Amino acid sequence: MAKIQAIRGMHDILMQDTPSWQYLEESISCILKQYAYQEIRLPIVEKTELYRRSIGDNTDIVSKEMYSFDDRNEKSLTLRPEGTAGCVRAGIEHGLFHNQTQRLWYVGPMFRHERPQKGRQRQFHQIGVEAFGFGGPDIDAEQILMCARIWKELNLNDISLEINSLGTKESRTNYTKILVDYFTSNKDKLDDDDLVRLKKNPLRILDSKNPDIKTLISESPTLDDHLDSDSADHFHAIKEILDSAEIKYKVNPRLVRGLDYYEKTVFEWITTQLGSQGTVCAGGRYDGLVEHHGASTTPAIGFAMGLERLQELIDFSKIPDKQSPHVYLILSGEKATGRGVLLAEQLRDQLSNLRLLTHCGNGSIKSQFKKADKSGAQIALILAEDEMKKDQVSIKFLRSESSQASIKWSDIANFLRTRLTF
Ligand code: ATP
Ligand code: MG
Repeated sequence: MAKIQAIRGMHDILMQDTPSWQYLEESISCILKQYAYQEIRLPIVEKTELYRRSIGDNTDIVSKEMYSFDDRNEKSLTLRPEGTAGCVRAGIEHGLFHNQTQRLWYVGPMFRHERPQKGRQRQFHQIGVEAFGFGGPDIDAEQILMCARIWKELNLNDISLEINSLGTKESRTNYTKILVDYFTSNKDKLDDDDLVRLKKNPLRILDSKNPDIKTLISESPTLDDHLDSDSADHFHAIKEILDSAEIKYKVNPRLVRGLDYYEKTVFEWITTQLGSQGTVCAGGRYDGLVEHHGASTTPAIGFAMGLERLQELIDFSKIPDKQSPHVYLILSGEKATGRGVLLAEQLRDQLSNLRLLTHCGNGSIKSQFKKADKSGAQIALILAEDEMKKDQVSIKFLRSESSQASIKWSDIANFLRTRLTF
């Protein structure tokens, strides 16, 4: 029978890789807490309508990338392609935005039916951050500074910031008309995908991955000339804060994001180390989205980091091992087996940070030593017939040449405390 394999573009994260995932998630969440952002946990499946209404029917995500299916009641549901829509839905449902401000974050898998390649999966992971109820430029700057602090903590130097302002809906509508004129007069250079975009979502042509129209895009009219004065002031204030915080950035007047809900500020953090999948973090302001879902106007801004892409960038060789056991308990003989399990429990009571692996199942002492070595443990404790008679264990250091010694059961915890760093 053919073996069943995982779905293309959806990867297992095996044991040897989980420590680097934990490190990444812990480092980031620690910084988010420094800024008093609170974790929110949201469902992975939502009604399809939520995404259609939030992200926009003519976006790549909604038009061709969603995992949608009918449930047993023939309701259309979708595996979440991003987290903002669900967060907005939850906030409205639980009254979190009414006369309140919220700083929220979440982590978890997202699903998009894209062509799998390096840095692009069909199930991928994001940490998303959202702030609700703040309309001023200070929170935009705070989020950008928070990202910068995260890159510093993760030791990532090759990540640069691009920012832009998309203005309000009105200024974007005016600009879109100008853009449509420009691309229509250059129609012969557009491929089929971009011709569809020209009709349905012309701003997205600026984001086209088609190399043949690079020059056409670089010569296209930009939005900055059509920016309304409120958005221009807002954008100016962000740049001032970034300047005084000495955060380098490039204003990219053609930076548009793939989701319809953005307005005013948009930003991306980009590395040169991952080829065309170089955006590791992206976000922007979506002041109209909460109202668009029927609740009262709530300004909002957020961003999401792609954890797979960050994984690729980080040098994990310098990160301390928090997974291998410190101690491997070798047991030989029937009596020792029962006593060993209890001894292990006592040690865990005494040393709460100890990682102790008790050998289960029989096996010669030699084969147990082999397993102890492979486990990455620093120390093997041996409990066999001889040791049982004397209420002792033998100790063997697995990573150095020190000779074997014996120690009373009652002294083991103290001994380990002096020899191991937890
Ligand atoms: P891209 O232009 O690379 O497709 P996007 O604009 O679709 O990205 P967002 O929806 O803004 O991306 O998601 C934020 C971040 O999530 C991206 O910058 C990226 O790091 C990550 N990301 C998005 N899609 C994927 C994917 N299919 N696989 C892995 N990471 C992804
Ligand atoms: Mg995309």
